[in-house]
Formats: sequence, structure tokens, C-alpha cells
Amino acid sequence: MKYTVLSLFPEITDAYFANSIIARAISRGIVEYRAINIRDYAPDRHKTCDDAPYGGGPGMLMLAEPLGRALEAAGALPKTGAQDRLSRRLIYLSPSGRPFTQELARELAACEELILLCGRYEGIDQRIIDRYVDDEISIGDYVLSSGEAAALVLIDATCRLIDQVITAESLEEESFAGGLLEYPQYTRPEVYATLEVPRVLLSGHHENIRRWRLEKRVRKTLAVRPDLIRRGKAAGLFDTETITVIEELEKDERDTGD
Ligand code: SAM
Repeated sequence: MKYTVLSLFPEITDAYFANSIIARAISRGIVEYRAINIRDYAPDRHKTCDDAPYGGGPGMLMLAEPLGRALEAAGALPKTGAQDRLSRRLIYLSPSGRPFTQELARELAACEELILLCGRYEGIDQRIIDRYVDDEISIGDYVLSSGEAAALVLIDATCRLIDQVITAESLEEESFAGGLLEYPQYTRPEVYATLEVPRVLLSGHHENIRRWRLEKRVRKTLAVRPDLIRRGKAAGLFDTETITVIEELEKDERDTGD
């Protein structure tokens, strides 16, 4: 996977790629990173990258020309409809984009290149979106002051899903896998501030541990993200055992509510 990030402040994303899982993935040749400073593509000698919006209104907008030149330097082409969106995707991080989810992270992790355009100020000239952008993606229903933090969220979430970046086993039972949140986890010591590790986890009984974890996942998901349970049922994500656990816990909840 190649990540190309276009930004007015590439040092923000540079720092991230120098550390941790992603730095290891780069040194192992699994991931590539390229930063493009949009300011280098401003045609005037003042390196101007923003101006007031037509029609009035507060703040400044990023100019189309430096953005277009920077995107073409990144290898982006004006959209024709014939491009292979599976291998290379040009994404503008934007609060008015479609929501970023684990499912979308999985889809993007299968691409060969993600070109990520980070906005600033009041955003970017619409013509850049119309001419080049494949996808507008939002990381949540709030407004950040710039797109770099959003690009890093997308990079982090997709990078760990790429084959060999982390062990496949770590991905199997984590939150959102199979439509449920994760079960609670404990490590040493067995007693911390009078709080004990659940006995079942010390029992060495694999089947009981598996069942306990499934129940905890369902219980947590029902409590804080019932929308995931509804969507998982509709999409047929759950096996018979999970459905039974969901129904039992829903019944318990109704009984205690009566
Ligand atoms: N005027 C824009 C609006 O109301 O939708 C907000 C612009 S915001 C201050 C500046 C930049 O931050 C955007 O161009 C975008 O790149 C980034 N940004 C802000 N919130 C975001 C979010 N929730 N998801 C992704 N990017 C975001």
C-alpha cells in the first residue's frame, strides 16, 4: 500500500510515519509513504494557497490551482469514469463526506494507493472535488480545523488491516469484527486495588472462556451500540450461537425492566 498525503503542513503526518507499527511496515517494504506540500505548487512568488470565497462568507478557501498542480504531481488525473478505483483512490477528508467505518477501512485497505487530500481554512474549491476526488470521507460528526488528523485516522485504521502489518489473530475478535464490540481484557496482577480478574479467565477452560467472551461482547454491544446489533442481524452477520446469546440477554433486559 502506498499512502500519498497532500497537505499544507506535511510535517504533521511525517512524524506519524516515523514511529510504531507503520514505521515497521515501511521498513519491511509493506507500506510506502509520500508527502506532498501543496504550497510547493502555488504558482505565484508569495506561494499563495488560499483566497476569499466567491459570494462572501467567513474565512478563506484553498485555491484550485495549487491543489490541481499538486494532485497532478501526485499522479492524479482528472476523473474520466474509466479509472481503476479499486487500486488507487483519491480521497478528500471532509466533514461532509461519507462516514468512515471499519467496513470502509477494510475496503480501502485493499487498494494499492490512497491519495489523501487534507483541507484547511473553510475547505477547498469545489471544482477540485468535481475534477479529481473519488471519495469524500468524514471521520465523524464534528469539525476539525484541518484534514491531517483525519488523514492519520484513516491511515492508521487501514494500515493495520493490511496483510502482515499485524498478526491476523489480533484482528479476529476485536471491536466491530463480526458486528460486535470487544470483550473486556485483563493482565497481571490477578488482584488490582481489590478488583479481581474474573475467575473463568484463570481456569484454563478454553470453551468456558470462549463462551464468557462471547457473552461479554454481546452484552457490551447491546448496552452501548444497539445499532450494531440491529445492523448485524439485518446483514446476517451472526451465527446461531450469537443469536441465541443476543436473544437471552435481550430477554433478561426486558424481564429486569418489567
Ligand atoms: N467549512 C467546512 C464545513 O463546514 O464543512 C469545514 C472546514 S474544516 C474547518 C477544514 C478542513 O478540516 C476540511 O477541509 C477537512 O479537510 C478537515 N476536516 C474537518 N472536519 C473533518 C471531519 N470530520 N472529517 C474529515 N476531515 C475533516
